[in-house]
Amino acid sequence: MRHIAIIGSGPAGYYSAEAAQKQWGDDVRIDMFDMLPVPYGLIRFGVAPDHQSIKGVTRRYEKVALSENVRFVGNVAVGRDVSIGELRQLYDAVILATGAPHDRKLGIPGEELGNIFGSAEFVGWYNGYPPSANLDPDLSGRHAVVIGMGNVALDVARILAKTEAEFEGSDIVSHALEALKAAKFQTITILGRRGPHQIMMTPKELGELANLERASPRVDRDDLPDEGEDLLLEPGLRKSVTHLRSFAAIPESVHADKPIEIHFDMFASPKSFSGDGKVQHIEVERTEVAQGRAVGTGDTYRIPADLVVSCIGYRSSPVPDVPFDDRAGRFANDEGRILPGIYCVGWARRGPSGTIGTNRPDGYSVVEKISEDIASGALGRIGKRGREGFDELAQARNLDVVTFQDWKKIEEAEEAAARAGSPREKFVDIEAMIRAAN
Ligand code: NAP
Repeated sequence: MRHIAIIGSGPAGYYSAEAAQKQWGDDVRIDMFDMLPVPYGLIRFGVAPDHQSIKGVTRRYEKVALSENVRFVGNVAVGRDVSIGELRQLYDAVILATGAPHDRKLGIPGEELGNIFGSAEFVGWYNGYPPSANLDPDLSGRHAVVIGMGNVALDVARILAKTEAEFEGSDIVSHALEALKAAKFQTITILGRRGPHQIMMTPKELGELANLERASPRVDRDDLPDEGEDLLLEPGLRKSVTHLRSFAAIPESVHADKPIEIHFDMFASPKSFSGDGKVQHIEVERTEVAQGRAVGTGDTYRIPADLVVSCIGYRSSPVPDVPFDDRAGRFANDEGRILPGIYCVGWARRGPSGTIGTNRPDGYSVVEKISEDIASGALGRIGKRGREGFDELAQARNLDVVTFQDWKKIEEAEEAAARAGSPREKFVDIEAMIRAAN
């Protein structure tokens, strides 16, 4: 019997579990740990609340979770309740599938001012991620600025722009919905340091901006390269650029009908923030793109900003005694191998890129590495104590472990508490989750 511990129950964790089941069938036992009492990581806390169809993938994860040889071990934090060394002694292989929950910093003056947030904490706030639930952003200003031209920047801009009615069917948490209902934004600026041909936004998501009830996207025609140059782009990016072209062609009369302008400010790199305690302005430098890189022109200007959400990427959380590549913000690894018996997968391995589906081949690949290492003898003798050993440790430490069956009770309570038209009202407090489980 092989015993595997997976740390993290988001997409990378579940695809790894699925791959291990396929690889070893009844000859494997998998314990999937999560620091929270609830599973699914990025699906629950990262995917936008108004993109419910993407969240449907949890049905596939649930099938894995409910099989005999997989077990959810919630409310147990590695590094707090159990060390990586202890897990390594109990399990034949430990896979870190911990994602990238922290914000990358811009590293520019004024970043510590009030009402400037990273996307991890801001998205966490409207998605009910317990550590960010009390963020309490001030949405009373007129000008919001979203930094970055990736899909997360799009999510944040869209959420800021939506009306209450447009959240129907979403599972945005009530505290965020209430705050957004009272928001007074007139402009939402998406600030990109490069140009239309370098956006990281996918066409379906970008296209959604054209269909918002009270907001319309505005692109400056002068920012667009000659149309013929689009032919050199890969098809997905070409479609996204076509959306930008159609935004640039929206007539003023249509803009005039919508009270919120979503303005793409491209070739614009943030240099500093200023304000009196709270952010009020961003100093921006015009850029040119040379050999794919943004190069400052020395030309600067100031834009008003009452709220800033910086969507420029994420970093993983280091784990004591596990080598970490601080510059890249993820575990130091060679194709998923960190140390003998310790592996990583998903964003913890490769950084925050790709879609949810990208984690599937990642999960299968890490299991293949483990299989090779077992076969070569690199992991020593196989057949450690696994879950039996962990249960003894949990009992000795009085850990309040949340099982998958407990999670189902939490889920039921969340569904029962849902607003009309919403699939669930998430608990945002760990104690409340545990009370529901009991
Ligand atoms: P991303 O796609 O890597 O985009 C990050 C953006 O931040 C880029 O435009 C980048 O510009 C910019 N940036 C980085 N450093 C900067 C700096 N110092 N100053 C100004 N701009 C800076 O990352 P993401 O949006 O966080 O998304 C993470 C992953 O999740 C992506 O793979 C994304 O597709 C995925 N995702 C998918 C969906 C969906 O499918 N619906 C939704 C959300 C997220 P440069 O290009 O110039 O570096």
